[in-house]
Amino acid sequence: MKILVINAGSSSLKYQLINMETESVVAKGTCERIGITGGKLTHKANGKEFVVEKELPNHTEAIALVLAELVDGEAGVISSMDEIDAVGHRVVASGEAFDRTTLVTDEVMKTMDEIAELAPLHNPAAILGINACRAVMPGKKMALVFDTSFHATMPEYAYLYAIDYDDYKQYKVRKYGAHGTSHKYVSGAAAEYLGKAPETLKIVTCHLGNGSSISAVDGGKCIDTTMGFTPLAGVPMGTRSGDIDYAAAEFLCRKKGMSMEEGLTYLNKKCGMLGVSGVSSDFRDLTAASEQGNARAKLALDMFAYSCKKYVGAYMAALGGLDCIVFTAGVGENTPSVRAAVLEGLEAFGIRMDAEKNLQKNDGKIHDLSAADSKVKILVIPTNEELVIARETAALL
Ligand code: ADP
Repeated sequence: MKILVINAGSSSLKYQLINMETESVVAKGTCERIGITGGKLTHKANGKEFVVEKELPNHTEAIALVLAELVDGEAGVISSMDEIDAVGHRVVASGEAFDRTTLVTDEVMKTMDEIAELAPLHNPAAILGINACRAVMPGKKMALVFDTSFHATMPEYAYLYAIDYDDYKQYKVRKYGAHGTSHKYVSGAAAEYLGKAPETLKIVTCHLGNGSSISAVDGGKCIDTTMGFTPLAGVPMGTRSGDIDYAAAEFLCRKKGMSMEEGLTYLNKKCGMLGVSGVSSDFRDLTAASEQGNARAKLALDMFAYSCKKYVGAYMAALGGLDCIVFTAGVGENTPSVRAAVLEGLEAFGIRMDAEKNLQKNDGKIHDLSAADSKVKILVIPTNEELVIARETAALL
């Protein structure tokens, strides 16, 4: 069975064709600059990279180009579209409308349109991608795999905001979380690596990238996570503030003459590591600047590590114990200094990292960073969201 995984952004579209018998990537690539000039497809298959420069006025043209490439003589990996058994689409937000992977139907797409406002930066792009696939591959089975599904198991007392309950009921304003596909993958992979049943483990998963979130996973189920109604909440991120007192945000809006919408853009795009450091949103730049003595870059990194550490502690309490901490995503997989700073001072709780092992370069494999006397396992696990999307799609079929 072969599953095509699609992750559509507003001007880009990433894809992977996955062979489910071996769970291996047969081909993958990215379409860039959709809807603007200078469209480009980068396609990797058969051990080579192929670049096609072609205007891509919309997502339908992009998908058509991807399919043409997949069946092409040299770059191709299948003889016809019939070899694609199904398509799995990544979708950021589900609201309360969907709590699991769902087969695409006209009815489902109507609901998708209705909930698009929950993730205005992401869901409309996913809808474009799905509609494009439906146009180019009519009749092909397609699944929607939501980033929020893994968090659907949070108890009500964890996902509710302390607002008027009737307002929650009417407007569905609550915590939904994000990065669920990644948290699901790495918590499952941790159990497999440790040779334990997921039901027996208490795990804190730290997805630290440009966007970051931390989850508490009890017996394979998410019981809490740092992101909220949108991916603005939780730890400070590349350009996002993370948690902030609403009154502080409102005060800033008034002082800076920003509308509520502009205030939201400010908190999403101008804050976090970028805002504090004044240097960059990128952790590689921040680490380099901090090592060269830039005090604000160091401050941003200190704030990030402190916030992550507090959530690790909070989730240890929420879980009533802890067996394993997992680091994943761009920063979690590649930045030893951040991992060390997050766990520094937690030794009294049985969390001890081996400083040498922590320096291990990311080689795409799972590594155990715990010291011999650590009660809690500390793992770095490269995330694989596409594989989860493909597995979920295959399971639905
Ligand atoms: P997102 O998917 O949220 O855009 P990523 O998970 O790709 O983000 O993480 C991007 C962050 O990871 C950047 O801040 C970058 O500096 C950091 N990073 C550190 N080392 C590497 C590396 N070797 N490769 C990729 N990203 C890295």
